[in-house]
Amino acid sequence: MRVVLLLAVAVLVLTVLLPLLRRPLARGPRPPVALSDELVKDPVCQTYVVRSRAVRGRGATDAPYFCSEECARRYVG
Ligand SMILES: [Zn+2]
Repeated sequence: MRVVLLLAVAVLVLTVLLPLLRRPLARGPRPPVALSDELVKDPVCQTYVVRSRAVRGRGATDAPYFCSEECARRYVG
C-alpha cells in the first residue's frame, strides 16, 4: 500500500514539475517594455491602449491617442 502511495506522489510531482523544467524561460524576468509599448489613455472612452497599437489623432503634434478610429473621429467632431 505504501508503494502505491509513493508512486502516486511521484507521478503527481513529475506531472507538475516536468512542464516547468521544460520551459524555464517562461518563469524568468520579463524583458523591459519598449518605449513605444507604454500605455496611453483614450480621452474619449477612457480606455488604456498600447501606444504602438493606438490610433493617433490627426492635427496637432501632441494629438492624443485613441483605441480606435471611431474614438478619434468622435474626439474631433
Ligand atoms: Zn476609445
